[in-house]
Amino acid sequence: MTRAATPTFSIAVYCGAREGANARHAQAARAVGDWIGRHGGQLVYGGGNSGLMGVVAQATHAAGGRVLGVIPQALVARELANHDCDELHVVPNMHQRKALMAEHAQAFCALPGGIGTLEELFEVWTWRQLGYHDKPVGLLNVDGYYNDLLNFLNRMVPSGFLSHAQRALMLDGDNVDTLMRRLVQAAGLPVIAFDANRI
Ligand code: AMP
Repeated sequence: MTRAATPTFSIAVYCGAREGANARHAQAARAVGDWIGRHGGQLVYGGGNSGLMGVVAQATHAAGGRVLGVIPQALVARELANHDCDELHVVPNMHQRKALMAEHAQAFCALPGGIGTLEELFEVWTWRQLGYHDKPVGLLNVDGYYNDLLNFLNRMVPSGFLSHAQRALMLDGDNVDTLMRRLVQAAGLPVIAFDANRI
């Protein structure tokens, strides 16, 4: 598959190092990778081949997108470092992984995952709230996986611990195309269809 010469956008995707029990989660990860590839984008991710991380990376590549992975040295074996990445950075620790991913991304999106996914999502959301960056943050709620979390976050507003404006800084939705478009556009970038960006 021919890749875009220069990616039209670059998005960090956080998701499970496991596939999870619901096949719809892997389907959604494939759809996200496919969307990135078809729109000439770059996936920035944790650099592994395990779980949904591997699914999204393979789908991005298969659809012609660019893949940039960042993996801590200690996780190279455990998370099956993906040597098919167009760019694979093996870094000394988790802090450097997250910093490099954030540096290379113009937007962030979390898919279903475990506590690593949540940690990464909450970090970029809190950093946005603090003004450390101005990149859009999103959460793809596949098959209701995050319903309870979203209900809780929404309840934090009337509870007085989260402002409406802060809550609104994290976009959420259950449709891949709609959420990806919102994130790319919120980053101030155009959404360019597949053929327009082929070389
Ligand atoms: P999980 O969502 O727990 O399956 O993990 C998804 C990814 O998050 C994996 O690549 C983990 O290495 C990564 N991860 C785990 N713990 C952390 C952490 N404290 N900060 C950032 N990423 C983490």
